[in-house]
Amino acid sequence: MVLNASPVELPALPAVEQEWQRRVRADRQLLFDIQHAVGGPFHVVYPEQFAANLRSFQKTLAGYGVRGQVYYGKKANKAGCWLPAIADLDGAVDVASEPELVHALAHGIRGRDIGVTGAAKTDGLLRLAARHDCVVAIDALDELERVAWIARNAGPVRILLRTLPPNAPHSRFGLSATDLDTAIAMCARLRSRVELIGFSFHLDGYAVAPRAELAYELIRLCAKTKAQGLPITTLSIGGGFACRYLGDDDWNAFLAHRRDDWFHAGKRPEKFYPYAQGPTGADMLAAILATEFEGHALGNHLRDNDIQLYIEPGRALLIDAGFTVFPVLGYKQNFDYGITTVHGLSMSVSEQWKGSEFLPDPILVPRNPDPAAEPIATCVGGASCMEYDMLTWRKVPLPQRPAPGDLLLYPNTAGYQMDKNESEFHQLRLPPKVVITAEEGRLRWRLDK
Ligand SMILES: *Cc1c(COP(=O)(O)O)cnc(C)c1O
Repeated sequence: MVLNASPVELPALPAVEQEWQRRVRADRQLLFDIQHAVGGPFHVVYPEQFAANLRSFQKTLAGYGVRGQVYYGKKANKAGCWLPAIADLDGAVDVASEPELVHALAHGIRGRDIGVTGAAKTDGLLRLAARHDCVVAIDALDELERVAWIARNAGPVRILLRTLPPNAPHSRFGLSATDLDTAIAMCARLRSRVELIGFSFHLDGYAVAPRAELAYELIRLCAKTKAQGLPITTLSIGGGFACRYLGDDDWNAFLAHRRDDWFHAGKRPEKFYPYAQGPTGADMLAAILATEFEGHALGNHLRDNDIQLYIEPGRALLIDAGFTVFPVLGYKQNFDYGITTVHGLSMSVSEQWKGSEFLPDPILVPRNPDPAAEPIATCVGGASCMEYDMLTWRKVPLPQRPAPGDLLLYPNTAGYQMDKNESEFHQLRLPPKVVITAEEGRLRWRLDK
């Protein structure tokens, strides 16, 4: 779609929308009732979609006959509502702080189904992990020493050694090849305190090949280490499963024709998340498992070597599982496009704080829909006094002029957008999370715990 509300032709980037979100939007009262109750911006989360995403990863593993576990990368969204869904499906959680670990335990995740990753961990986190039989991904030699020290009282700790990926030599995570050798030797010596169950990595980007290649390489390291009598069973290939927010045609047209004057004040975001890509989610896992080495799929190599696969998706479990609603405070037209100001801050759409932009079009939910209205184009600013507090620099199309009391809905924000950089700037309360469930043909809502 092209819009002529300004002299420039502006692109539309409509979000791929799930049925449940359409249903919530179609219920004219629901969002306004929630807004009335919470009195400000809020996030909507839908655990049923999360559960469906989790099941699709689990099915893919089972389909390949590969034993394994799906660890939800918890940092991608803080809501508690995902955790019972994980517990019910016998999933697992990947944490990197004490509060995350405690939150997971408190919502029914067993310690043995919690993985602890992250850079150097505090002694407190390591002690909790040790006492609850979590799997700890060790990132440095001194951390291995600290775990062994804590294990003298807590009992043996299951660990993975996190490797520095050869194609990411400047990453600050993982053990170098030399340190990895040293760590394996230490694990052999410290056998009564640490159980080395395998190796892990987490790669940037969303490509299949580097994950498959590194996994294959590590299968050989697993075999070699097992031959030294260490209890190796596991390989973790981390997260970074691709997601789709936009249709291919819209996204490719945007990239091909992008102009600075599509953005308020000529803003030039340097980099964007790849909003349309494939394969995504569980299909990407399938592509990794199907990658062939020496005539056999990676999945077969894992099976033949009796190695179970851990994956740690964050965003890919949250895709399509939430959105964010900002009440409109006002609209004005200083230029040939409008400026919409909403109740809320751009920190609640985290992409803005990486110098980037969350690109799926916001959706206007007007109090008084006007089918005869002319479409307009607008950027969207937050309620702070900072010039740069912009939720959307891009001039986005809306079917009618936003008015105070309307709602502006940002689709698909559950993965990293709603949680990460939010702040109480101006003493504004953080937007609460509202959990939607469908019960007996009716949509219900409650506050997340
Ligand atoms: C952030 C993180 C994840 C999750 O990454 P996604 O891109 O959200 O899938 C998984 N594992 C580790 C170690 C991480 O740091």
